[in-house]
Amino acid sequence: MTETKCLIIGGGPAGYTAAIYMARAAVSAILLEGIQPGGQLTTTTTIENFPGFPAGVDGTQLVSDMRQQVINVGGDVRQGSVTSIDLSSRPFVATLDSGEQIAAATVIVATGARAKYLGLADEQKYAGLGVSACATCDGFFYRRKTVAVVGGGDTACEEAHYLSQLASKVYMIVRKDYLRASAAMRERVEQTPNIEILYNCNTEGLYGDGGVEGAHLVRRRGEPGEERFDLPIDGFFLAIGHQPATDFLAGQVELDQAGYIVTAPHSTATSVPGVFAAGDVANPDYRQAIAAAGDGCRAALDAQKFLSRE
Ligand code: NDP
Repeated sequence: MTETKCLIIGGGPAGYTAAIYMARAAVSAILLEGIQPGGQLTTTTTIENFPGFPAGVDGTQLVSDMRQQVINVGGDVRQGSVTSIDLSSRPFVATLDSGEQIAAATVIVATGARAKYLGLADEQKYAGLGVSACATCDGFFYRRKTVAVVGGGDTACEEAHYLSQLASKVYMIVRKDYLRASAAMRERVEQTPNIEILYNCNTEGLYGDGGVEGAHLVRRRGEPGEERFDLPIDGFFLAIGHQPATDFLAGQVELDQAGYIVTAPHSTATSVPGVFAAGDVANPDYRQAIAAAGDGCRAALDAQKFLSRE
């Protein structure tokens, strides 16, 4: 069994920052990157609100540079997902998808949050065949095609705008009669000629032979004037919010109703001494790379204090 002073779970801004602080403090730590190294930043385009980049920075480049920085300061970055973890006694023991086990004196959970789906059977049926929750990852395949983005928040607007530069037409499927997104984002999509917003619409299913060819929509569901219609599209992008990646912690660490890790006020400490949480997995309010990176720093310092007290 591999042993470490600190197991950092998650390869996003929170995890990478925690790993940089651990390496620079000469505390042995292993950072585990899951199946999507870089996390949500790899699904965004230019980031203009991360200080230090006056001209903006590409999201994928930013996390790839963070990862390289971990390695440059002597950090140990490994691939693998934690399938289960025993936090009932110390050292904590994590079991990875490879079957390997890691015993850790402390754990920093920085697993982030993942995209939500509507829960339609067709989303699974057409997974990888026209259904996606990541415009930056998959937009390339829809050049000069027609796509739809579900959602009316900032993510949906950002994804729709990104796709509008590749696809010939982008529909936004919005269940209310307004966009929840910030004014700047709203304006951006409203002023983009090839984005059309379909208000008061819900998706009931998808259709197509071998791949998505369209969506079954309903306008004003359950209201007078309810109307069902089909929207021919080649790609269906989900942008309806996120779910924290905490399934593997259920029953061991205190989670809130939505599944986010509960931390002590002004601390990254969780309900289990020696286990800390950083980034979106514990913080549904901010969801910003800079906030996650800040949390990663705090978690590393909290873990270091914990270890030095032992
Ligand atoms: P939000 O929760 O803000 O928005 C989710 C959207 O999806 C809403 O329009 C919601 O509709 C809709 N929705 C949810 N469930 C369903 C469903 N079952 N069917 C149809 N529509 C559904 O999530 P976001 O991911 O957009 O944003 C999360 C946070 O991150 C926000 O605070 C946002 O401001 C921030 N953010 C900031 C960015 C930036 O500043 N550049 C970029 C991206 C995100 P309804 O309104 O009806 O609930």
